[in-house]
Amino acid sequence: MANASSDEHAEGQEPRRILLAGPRSFCAGVERAIEIVERALASRGAPVYVRKQIVHNAYVVDDLARRGAVFVEELDEVPDGATVVFSAHGVSPAVRAEAERRGLDVIDGTCPLVSKVHAKARRYAARGDTVVLIGHAGHEEVEGTLGEAPESMVLVETVDQIRELSVPDPERVSYLTQTTLAVDETAEFVDALREKFPLLHEPPSEDICYATTNRQHALNAIVAEADLVLVVGSPNSSNSVRLVELSRRQGTPAHLIDRAGDIDPAWLDGVRTVGLTAGASAPPALVTEVVTALGELGPVTVEEREVTRETTHFELPWVVRGTAEQSTSSLPG
Ligand code: SF4
Repeated sequence: MANASSDEHAEGQEPRRILLAGPRSFCAGVERAIEIVERALASRGAPVYVRKQIVHNAYVVDDLARRGAVFVEELDEVPDGATVVFSAHGVSPAVRAEAERRGLDVIDGTCPLVSKVHAKARRYAARGDTVVLIGHAGHEEVEGTLGEAPESMVLVETVDQIRELSVPDPERVSYLTQTTLAVDETAEFVDALREKFPLLHEPPSEDICYATTNRQHALNAIVAEADLVLVVGSPNSSNSVRLVELSRRQGTPAHLIDRAGDIDPAWLDGVRTVGLTAGASAPPALVTEVVTALGELGPVTVEEREVTRETTHFELPWVVRGTAEQSTSSLPG
């Protein structure tokens, strides 16, 4: 826990400043996915199977598992006829087909913004394009999107891969991105695509989602003032990792922490201002926990910088809409 050297930090110091980036923590897609599992548990009873982590956060997954959700890697671990929730990151059509063949009771937790990217993949492939997907190999969202048109899609992870890319018809190329990439880095990829394919078909709107973009803008607004940045999030959370990278690219040391207990008091030596944010899958209560832990290491002042207010909300799937939510959640409201 983060109180190893609290006394030495507490004495004779000006309060340390905590600069909170806003927006931070849960996005609308994550809130929706968690509520779907909660409502499925309330209406169907435990166990409710969930393919992959519902969102990439260890605390959220542990909490739902405690309440009867069973997290599996693949559908062959789900008994015939059982209820299975697809995670916020989406699935490929092959997974949907397999669930149907098995007669599983499917509730789809895919974020609507991921579904939108899937629809674009199908549309661009159907018009004969090679669809370049900018993203990270092995991420569940990328696997699901690539599965929409595997014959027509190619994944690129570096700008060099774009320069070396060979496609059947350079005049018929479009691109998509994973929703949780770094905005500035992705612009370099798109520039490279435009250079390589002058007739590139550009999507009408950004695929990097509003929540990812807002959290990066919010961190950008405080990073220059911070001596250290702490990002609350799990290591497999793409948008959280991007926040750590963004901070380090700008010269401010940064650490990804799942919980307050991950803070090493030595990180705070000589640090007067801590920038604090959280990825879109990290509960707000964990940020509060970090503020409390920093307060135990010495006096603090807390200041919030909100660059925009988020009002996005996604409807629940109709199959769970009428269901009262279980009230046993230890997740923050
Ligand atoms: S980070 Fe963006 S794409 Fe992912 S669940 Fe949240 S809103 Fe949806």
